[in-house]
Amino acid sequence: MQNRPNHDPKGPNDPSWDDHTDVAVIGSGAAGLSAAIEARLAGASVMVFEKMPVTGGNTRISDGGLSAPENFMQNRLGVVDSFQLFYDDILQAGLGLNHPDLVEVFARHAAEAVDWIWSLGVRYAGRLDQFGGHSVPRTVTIEHNAGHEIIKALTTRCHQLGVTIHTRNTLARLVTESSKRVTGVCLSCKTQASANTPGPQTDGSAGRIRHIRAERAVVLATGGFGSDVAFRTCQVPRLDDTIGTTNHKGATAEGLTAALKIHAMPLHLSWIQLGPWGCADETGYGKGARFASYSVFPAGILVDPAFGSRIVNEWADRRQRSDAILKTGHACIGIVDDKGAKKEPDSLTSCLKTGKIRQFDTLAGLGAACNMPAGSLEQTVADYNQWTAQHRPDRFGKQTKKHTVPLDTPPFYAVRLWPKVHYTPGGLHIDTHARVMDLFHRPISGLFAAGEVTGGIHGASRLGGCALTECIVFGRIAGQNAAAIPPGP
Ligand SMILES: Cc1cc2nc3c(=O)[nH]c(=O)nc-3n(C[C@H](O)[C@H](O)[C@H](O)COP(=O)(O)OP(=O)(O)OC[C@H]3O[C@@H](n4cnc5c(N)ncnc54)[C@H](O)[C@@H]3O)c2cc1C
Repeated sequence: MQNRPNHDPKGPNDPSWDDHTDVAVIGSGAAGLSAAIEARLAGASVMVFEKMPVTGGNTRISDGGLSAPENFMQNRLGVVDSFQLFYDDILQAGLGLNHPDLVEVFARHAAEAVDWIWSLGVRYAGRLDQFGGHSVPRTVTIEHNAGHEIIKALTTRCHQLGVTIHTRNTLARLVTESSKRVTGVCLSCKTQASANTPGPQTDGSAGRIRHIRAERAVVLATGGFGSDVAFRTCQVPRLDDTIGTTNHKGATAEGLTAALKIHAMPLHLSWIQLGPWGCADETGYGKGARFASYSVFPAGILVDPAFGSRIVNEWADRRQRSDAILKTGHACIGIVDDKGAKKEPDSLTSCLKTGKIRQFDTLAGLGAACNMPAGSLEQTVADYNQWTAQHRPDRFGKQTKKHTVPLDTPPFYAVRLWPKVHYTPGGLHIDTHARVMDLFHRPISGLFAAGEVTGGIHGASRLGGCALTECIVFGRIAGQNAAAIPPGP
């Protein structure tokens, strides 16, 4: 027998399998739970394994924004959009690195994913957002920005269908048979007591080892690696621990590397996305970041305090905006007036109390407090206001949009912005059936993947609201196809 690290002699009747199921799903975010539901509806027995004590991963802490062309809210509000416009926007942000066949599947099924989540009982806020890089408003958002409502609804459906969800179970490796088919998973399972001991939840080293046979297939849905400083620094050395992240602490790369160990093809791992709205005065993704995302960038300006001048098109995609801030070498100031601040009133109220946002009666006062050269901010805002009346692209290529308004209504608000690692567009190469491809472009038998652990859809930069929709689209595809695999020998 060959001595390969992931090769496992266990056959279907080997008594040392601890348990078995038709489909084993690894990861309990939007992608994993969507896959679990579809696999179960297709008649398979399903077990979900999650390494953290709570389910949901980044999905749970997300804003719950879902972008889709021709979605129900656009139809209701009369916003004209199309598959082609969405597709083109994604490829433009992705610098053409995107795999067109995957983008096509995503774009064609995006609106359906929005409706599916609604059908599970999740409710959307009655508005439509437009984020940088999108040509039209096309993002619907879960009421109160509560991404955890998606997890609640998916988990409830899983329970109704008899899908079992096992927390504190870390995928240690994928089990393969000599045919190279993936036949199961090796998990490190922590008891309540060991899970509560200090130290990372991510290595699985302290756990009891269990082998679960997956008669039909394994779906890998372990999310991205934004919190894995060692792994991300290896891809992009400047993204060391001096750069924060918005991700939950379980967003590490070991699910991805388990697939790489059995020769899965990686894609675009070094295109790591930073959120330009990262707030320098909070850790993770807090209300300062949300205020910047929903108020400052749509309705305000971004200013380099060293010169008191704008540095980028505030509607550009995340990569362009983050790069512009990083280039200055210091935190930049997001500025919005009272009208714009009303777009995100809850975050404003909270951040004024904590000091993450500061309020000023005049632009001169704001400029002085941020050490800008005297008079520079007033001039910058005067130029900007003049431009918004002219309906032509400004010097950064910013187009006048419906929501681009002059900054003319005091008080003015300032928030310090420094990008944080937010999303990892790179990951495993999948095909349109969500099958994981190997280094020779062949599907790895018995292995599917969906969500942020995969790569190729977003290319160099993901547009806002496109991750959750994509997780649901490909999670569902992965689950349906995993259940359709005939049981192994
Ligand atoms: C603060 C924040 C806000 C966001 N807001 C939005 C938004 O509004 N709209 C949008 O489209 N996108 C948003 N995103 C991005 C989006 O939330 C994620 O890309 C998406 O939730 C990823 O879903 P997933 O199912 O692939 O992974 P996750 O939801 O992260 O789930 C993966 C799960 O796998 C588990 N796991 C990892 N490794 C293992 C292992 N070895 N064994 C077992 N389990 C493992 C993790 O613990 C985790 O629970 C946001 C992200 C963040 C961080």
